[in-house]
Amino acid sequence: MPELPEVETIVRALSASLTGLTVSKVVVHRKDVIHGYPAPLSKFLPRQTISRIYRRAKRIVMVLDEPTELVIHLGMTGRLDVVSPKSVIEKHTHLRMAFVDYDCELRFRDPRRFGGVWLLPAVDKHLGPRLGKLGPEPLPLKPTDFFDLLQRNRQIKALLLDQSAIAGIGNIYCDEALHAAGIHPTIKSDSLDKKIAGQLLRHIKRILNKAIELRGSTLSDYRRPDGSSGGYQHQHKVYDREDRPCRNCGTMIERLQVAGRSSFVCPNCQNKSVPKV
Ligand SMILES: [Zn+2]
Repeated sequence: MPELPEVETIVRALSASLTGLTVSKVVVHRKDVIHGYPAPLSKFLPRQTISRIYRRAKRIVMVLDEPTELVIHLGMTGRLDVVSPKSVIEKHTHLRMAFVDYDCELRFRDPRRFGGVWLLPAVDKHLGPRLGKLGPEPLPLKPTDFFDLLQRNRQIKALLLDQSAIAGIGNIYCDEALHAAGIHPTIKSDSLDKKIAGQLLRHIKRILNKAIELRGSTLSDYRRPDGSSGGYQHQHKVYDREDRPCRNCGTMIERLQVAGRSSFVCPNCQNKSVPKV
């Protein structure tokens, strides 16, 4: 699933190519991936101009003529491609958008259909049907606010993945940040003291920023809008590295189920007890 760095990479690419363009035509191939108001999309979008594209958590938000926003969630397997209108329409392409005086079109493709497209009044703050509430963004988060949101009796991994608690972190960057901080994913979030919580937040920010710089991690579906891959997958220290040596200590990485997700842990670096400094 694309996480914050992948979505940020997509937003930057789309922003560079689509900002200021006016929609000329929209073709919807599957109506059940379209949500929100007003409908139908193919009638509403033409003549709308994209004034800005930004990211909120893992959502891509295109600001149309005020006060309407087109929100795209990529779910597990969603992709946005900017391609020639003459290129072959791949299977599972659900939406195509063409623009005035622009040679390419935007295509939304999502084989597993956990993602979708929402047309919403801007005042809805990206909250449409099936779009859950969002917690704060991790990059601008202050250590005291992060410490406050940890004060719950929950496994740290489950809390970091909970988009309503903190928004944008998914399985990859959660596992990498917990490893960097020496924290086992099953420990309780409220057992971390202020100093360790501060270290964890610093690792989260450092890893997310580095992943943005390298344009995300491509493990399976994620691609940039021009079809190219990200580069952060080569930096992973634990994620997707079961039975391979930890890059810090050489101990074999283990795969566990935590919070219903595959979790990659170094049993040496990540002690179950609260790390001491
Ligand atoms: Zn290790």
